[in-house]
Amino acid sequence: MNILITGGAGFIGSHLVAYHLAKGDTVHVVDDLSTGQVGNISAHFKDPHFQFDEANILTWDGLKEAARWSNRIYHMAAIVGVKKVLEDPRAVMATNMAGTERVFRAVAEVNPMTQIIVASSSEVYGFNTKPAFVETDDIVLRSAGRLRWCYAVTKLADEFLAYSFLKKSHIKVVIVRLFNTVGPHQTGKYGMVFPNFIRQAVHGEQVTVYGDGSQTRSFCNVDDTVRALDMLASTPAANGEIVNVGNDDEISIGDLAKLIIERSGSKSGIKYIGYEAAYGLEFEDITHRRPVIQKLQDLTGFKPRWSLYDTIDQLIALERTTGLK
Ligand code: UDP
Repeated sequence: MNILITGGAGFIGSHLVAYHLAKGDTVHVVDDLSTGQVGNISAHFKDPHFQFDEANILTWDGLKEAARWSNRIYHMAAIVGVKKVLEDPRAVMATNMAGTERVFRAVAEVNPMTQIIVASSSEVYGFNTKPAFVETDDIVLRSAGRLRWCYAVTKLADEFLAYSFLKKSHIKVVIVRLFNTVGPHQTGKYGMVFPNFIRQAVHGEQVTVYGDGSQTRSFCNVDDTVRALDMLASTPAANGEIVNVGNDDEISIGDLAKLIIERSGSKSGIKYIGYEAAYGLEFEDITHRRPVIQKLQDLTGFKPRWSLYDTIDQLIALERTTGLK
C-alpha cells in the first residue's frame, strides 16, 4: 500500500512510518521539521520504500502528486502542545486549518478514492466536565477569547472540513479524536507531562506538578495508538465516523508523579507550581479527560496492550540509555 504521512517526523507520525514500513508498505513523509525531528525518521533514509520531503503543508508543491499516488493518507501535520499553542496561536490557526483544507482539496481534485485519517483531538470536548467522553457528547468551549482553546477550535474545524468534503466530494475519511498519547519520540519541549516527569525523575530533579495534581488523564502508549489507527483505516464501517482513540485507564497527575518517582527509584521530590506560573494567564486546565473507547472496540475489536506501568518502565529505560528529547 502507498501511505502518505503529513507530519511524519513528529511523535505519532514517526511511529506510523515505522509501523507501515515494517508491514511492507511504501511510505512518503512530508514534514517541515518545525516540531517534528529528523532523528525520528532518519533510520529509514536508506530504505527504498521510504521518501521524505522537508516542506510545509501550506506550501508543499508535491502535495497533489503524492495524493494521487497514495492509497491512504494520515494527516498528522499540526502544531500541538499547550505551550506552543499559547506561544504562537496564529501559526496554530493557519497550519491546523488551512493545511487540512489544502490536503482535502488536493484529494478531492486528484484522487477521491484515497482514504484520509484525520488527526483530531480530545481537546475538542473542551470544557465539558463529564468524567469520560463519548463521541456524541456536546462540545463546550469558552465564549471569552482565551487562546488556550484555539487549538480545540482548529481541530473542530478540521472535523467539519472533513464532513463537508465527505458530503460534497465523497472522499473517504476517518476522524480520530486522539487522547493523551505517550511513548518514545515524544518531546517534553512543548510542555507534555509524561516526558517531563520521566526526565525529571531519572535525573533526580524535582518533578513539577502543575496545579494541585488532582486533575486526571488517561495515557495511551503510541504503539497502541498506531495499531488502533491502522485497524480503523482497515475497517470499512469506520468510514465517515468520528472515533475516540486512547486508553481508558485513568490516573491523577499527582499520582503519576509519585508512580514515576517510585518506579525509577528516584530521590526526586514533587514541586507544585500554580497554573499561572506554569502557563501564564491565558490558561485553564481540563480537570478530567478519559475516553470511552466502546466505539473503537465495537468497530475494530481493539484492546490496548500497554499498561501504564509498562509504558513508564519503557520510557524510564529509554531516558537512561539514549535520553528522551
Ligand atoms: N502538567 C504537569 N507538569 C508538567 C507538564 C504538564 O503537571 O511538567 C500537567 C498539565 O497541567 C495537565 C496534565 O499535566 O494537567 C497533562 O498535560 P499535557 O500538556 O501533557 O496534556 P493535556 O493538558 O493536553 O492533556
